[in-house]
Amino acid sequence: MKLLENKVALITGASRGIGKGIAEHFAKEGANVAFSYASSEEKAKALEKELQDTYGIKAKGYRSNAAKFAEAEELVNAVLADFGQLDILVNNAGITRDTLLMRMSEEQWDEVIETNLKSAFNLTKAVLKPLLKQRSGSIINMTSVVGVMGNAGQANYAASKAGMIGFTKSIAKELGSRGIRCNAVAPGFIETEMTAALDEATLKGWTDAIPLKRGGTPEDVANACVFLGSDMSTYITGQTLQVDGGMLM
Ligand code: NAP
Repeated sequence: MKLLENKVALITGASRGIGKGIAEHFAKEGANVAFSYASSEEKAKALEKELQDTYGIKAKGYRSNAAKFAEAEELVNAVLADFGQLDILVNNAGITRDTLLMRMSEEQWDEVIETNLKSAFNLTKAVLKPLLKQRSGSIINMTSVVGVMGNAGQANYAASKAGMIGFTKSIAKELGSRGIRCNAVAPGFIETEMTAALDEATLKGWTDAIPLKRGGTPEDVANACVFLGSDMSTYITGQTLQVDGGMLM
């Protein structure tokens, strides 16, 4: 039996990058996959088809802004109507608006906090009722090593990711007695469109500092999510699993 058979997963921000990798690996392990995206309609349609054709599971993409409370609620209602159940939520949607604090606008702060942190609140609130009813579920929050160590030029991003870790631990404490687990995954430097924007010198600096001497792949992060979403991790909650090649110890 595959690790996620008979489970339905909702992954936010899966049209590209890490979220897409998670969707593919969840499907490979037998999960039916609902996913959201902000604007990449064509990429989402292509992923929907790829997941169905390659893995023979049910897959559907929904355009939904994770930063908006009402949209998150609508999304979860639509997923429940289409899939009939929900077992795993991956709060993966995220953005960067990097700049030094001196130059950071209020808009850059708010946009990052709302997309990265408020989204986790929005979606977790929305899935609460169905998860409580079935007395089981796994919530996975995509944080970052930057949320643990801080990073110059990323005060907004680091604050959002550190906030996610506190949120994860609190939810784990609140909902553990109801059979609902909540963990965070903290990727280090993963090669996606988000990190493609970095210049070569910065990239080299990051890889040199990694004991495993390479950037990670979406697959590296997806494998950790498969573990945390599956029944292989039923006694693990409130943890932050770093997937960073040993970058931060
Ligand atoms: P990415 O390649 O930029 O992809 C971001 C995804 O999020 C896209 O699918 C995008 O949809 C979606 N998205 C953005 N804003 C959204 C919103 N408001 N509502 C719904 N979906 C939204 O990013 P990534 O590198 O895969 O990162 C994924 C997650 O991992 C993020 O939370 C990021 O902070 C975290 N992370 C990444 C790294 C890294 O090195 N890459 C390291 C640590 C943590 P559209 O395609 O429609 O825009």
